[in-house]
Amino acid sequence: LVRITDVWKQRGRNTVLKGVNLEASRGQVVCLLGPSGAGKSTLLRCINALEACDRGIVFVDGVPIGVEQRGTAFYRMRETALSRQRAEIGMVFQNFNLFPHLSVLENIIDAPIRVRGESRAAAVARARELLARVGLAEKEAAFPRQLSGGQQQRIAIARALAMQPKLMLFDEPTSALDPHLVGEVLDVIKDLVASGMTMIIVTHEVQFAREVADVVAVMVDGVIAESGPPSQVLARPRDPRVQAFLARSL
Ligand code: ATP
Ligand code: MG
Repeated sequence: LVRITDVWKQRGRNTVLKGVNLEASRGQVVCLLGPSGAGKSTLLRCINALEACDRGIVFVDGVPIGVEQRGTAFYRMRETALSRQRAEIGMVFQNFNLFPHLSVLENIIDAPIRVRGESRAAAVARARELLARVGLAEKEAAFPRQLSGGQQQRIAIARALAMQPKLMLFDEPTSALDPHLVGEVLDVIKDLVASGMTMIIVTHEVQFAREVADVVAVMVDGVIAESGPPSQVLARPRDPRVQAFLARSL
């Protein structure tokens, strides 16, 4: 479903991504680990075209993201076409990023109505289903500031799911949370794993990655240093940089 081919990205003088290759088939869960500054967030932002890559292409469902092909050349897409593509890729950030002035329900139905053109009634019905799924049915009228971090993150996940994405991207979804709130968010993500959603999850939770990942990919200094099943990458890493990183994070 996702194919990342030789993606490069420069930031100022820094080359942040140096030829990243990574794939996820439909229904697979890829956990992306790696030290701070390795380029994990940058890669996620290139996958949903929040940023353009300098070289290389990301394909989702066979379609190149953020670029259109004319003849043999690729051109950066116009914003309207981009937002249509982004609608198919859900993203959940470390800091929840809910709209503070909108209620929980309005947060969830906003994009389905505005971007997908759903009727308000249909969007509300689906939002209520999603709220029940993340265990927050009783919070639809609340505002983000009235919720705990864990609750806000579960709402952010429901909001992303409301767009019926093909793919979900998570950027350290639990690292801004108090330790006692991490579990409730990981449980919601596990429920998504069970439902067969294709996901790329940047996380520092090694134990969680071991449990849910089909593929663990470790990024070091702008490249995927090693990837494979968790039993191999987490238990018997071959790359010395990956060995050093895991030794520090366990
Ligand atoms: P972390 O685990 O800390 O979130 P990361 O793996 O997500 O790290 P990135 O945020 O992708 O890493 O950053 C990769 C590199 O890009 C870093 O060297 C960082 O300093 C640099 N960088 C990030 N954002 C910017 C920016 N807006 N302008 C310039 N350089 C940036
Ligand atoms: Mg990051």
